[in-house]
Amino acid sequence: AAAAETPAQAPSLLANARSIVAVASGKGGVGKSTVAVNLAVSLAALGMSVGLLDADIYGPSLPRMLGTKGKPEMAGNKLIPVDAWGLKAISIGHVVDEETAMVWRGPMVLNALTQLMTQVEWPALDVMVIDLPPGTGDIQLTLSQRVRLSGAVVVSTPQDIALLDARRGVSMFRQVRVPVLGIVENMSFFCCPNCGTRTDIFGHGGARAEAARIGVPFLGEIPLLPAIRETSDAGAPIAASAPDGEAARAFMALAEAV
Ligand code: ADP
Repeated sequence: AAAAETPAQAPSLLANARSIVAVASGKGGVGKSTVAVNLAVSLAALGMSVGLLDADIYGPSLPRMLGTKGKPEMAGNKLIPVDAWGLKAISIGHVVDEETAMVWRGPMVLNALTQLMTQVEWPALDVMVIDLPPGTGDIQLTLSQRVRLSGAVVVSTPQDIALLDARRGVSMFRQVRVPVLGIVENMSFFCCPNCGTRTDIFGHGGARAEAARIGVPFLGEIPLLPAIRETSDAGAPIAASAPDGEAARAFMALAEAV
């Protein structure tokens, strides 16, 4: 991953990670968490020690996607990240139930996020993957100011509306001087398992064209596959549970591009 320019007042949160990659999206539902989880699993499969931090405090989906519902253990007053699929992971969903976090106000959310970084016994990591909340709000800004982000991966579907939001995301990272590693197109196309016909449900190639237009790398295409959703819902990310399949290959290509 690209090295960040470290500002003079270098923020020191998550200093135990050599590289920190944020996975972002302009809007919800485009598969950002799915990409974050499977990217992390694929980086681990490349032999790296990988952490996964769920910064989506209002809508934590990592516990479900990783199949880790129990509370983490403590070491003194610090939480120990949960072991799942070769990753060290932590989410607010591991600590409080989702309904509790849903009613928090802004300062409590930022406080909770800071605690997930400082009150967790993070081991030395080659790379920390951070699943950001959708959009361009407080959490994204706080993270880019307090964490030495190596770069951001922006997830988009091929549709115009999602791309417009992705463009906003890219522009936010540029403003806070976080390198944009590139755009990945999720739900890029669908191949019918019965007849083999390919259908571009949300159009196709929009993210590649947009990446070229705004001058950021294009990181690849993830197909729309029922198995991606099924494995996510079952808590067994497809990059780990079906490592030889089409989806796992697409996520591995992404890991190599990042
Ligand atoms: P976000 O984090 O952007 O809100 P999620 O990762 O939670 O989005 O994905 C939203 C839903 O779409 C989930 O049910 C997920 O399993 C499903 N999904 C995401 N990417 C794909 C894909 N490529 N193929 C099929 N289903 C997908």
